[in-house]
Amino acid sequence: MEYILETNQIEKRYNRFKAIDNLSIHVPKGAIYGLIGKNGAGKTTLIRLICDLQKPTSGSYTIYGIKNTDKRILEARKRMGAIIETPSIRLEATAEDNLKEQYRIVGLPSFDNLQEILKLVGLIDTGKKKAKHFSLGMKQRLGIAIALVGNPDFLILDEPINGLDPEGIIEIRELILKLNKEKGITVLISSHYLDELSKIATDYGFIEKGHMVQEICKETLEEKCKKRVELEVSNVKECVKYFEEKQLSYEVISDKCINLYDEINITELAVALSKRDCVIDKFQEKEESLESYYINLMGGGNNV
Ligand code: ATP
Repeated sequence: MEYILETNQIEKRYNRFKAIDNLSIHVPKGAIYGLIGKNGAGKTTLIRLICDLQKPTSGSYTIYGIKNTDKRILEARKRMGAIIETPSIRLEATAEDNLKEQYRIVGLPSFDNLQEILKLVGLIDTGKKKAKHFSLGMKQRLGIAIALVGNPDFLILDEPINGLDPEGIIEIRELILKLNKEKGITVLISSHYLDELSKIATDYGFIEKGHMVQEICKETLEEKCKKRVELEVSNVKECVKYFEEKQLSYEVISDKCINLYDEINITELAVALSKRDCVIDKFQEKEESLESYYINLMGGGNNV
């Protein structure tokens, strides 16, 4: 797997307090990676480290495989665009003038692609309207447009939907999907809105107290949340044979437990298994929402 961003046991301390604690993250190329954590979990700090706004106390990271201590990291950073906390927008200027300013900051010799970027983020028709008259969603999209100057292929968005109304959230969601699908941009998004991120994320990293609790891809997460019957049986081998014969979807959990993902009549199953010298000792139907999976993973809590 090719990773655009990897950290190796990175740590950021403020005196004795560890804001980032031996954290490892792996952002695959082409992913929309959702960095999920409660308020204060360390999401912004991690992003600030990656963007070189702060230095790690220890540990290292790579961007496009280039280590942060390597001189070539400056070149790698040019391929990144980021919005950290609130986008830096000049409110007295139009969308176009805001973008032009960014072209100058980045040192680009011409305004190539400027209209294309405005079109991409849906601000092409804003004309002479100053950014101060934009809705929050439009401001956020302008922030993303600014981050897109220089044609990055890795975009970092810190809490991009914070404070947005439902319409604004949909616009940002669709824009992120478009950038990912049409432009092939890898996106790292931090958020505490798991439900919202689940509509677009391909990969997740769950962080708490500066530590990576789990990294998981969308497919595996969906598998874990799938409706299932958890069975405790006396003879897992026979149970497996039966499920294979019936072409049922299952997962062996231990030498006693097996999960069944297909609908089945439990009485019929018990009769069929008893003929094979296998007794069902216990069974429980389970279905987990993404939210409850997260809460269980984090050991309960607020602000999810
Ligand atoms: P939020 O969703 O609220 O933005 P977050 O996950 O982005 O939260 P961070 O802003 O990264 O969290 O903060 C992580 C922890 O580090 C918090 O406990 C915060 O108080 C602490 N922290 C951040 N910056 C500093 C600093 N400059 N000095 C001391 N502590 C800090």
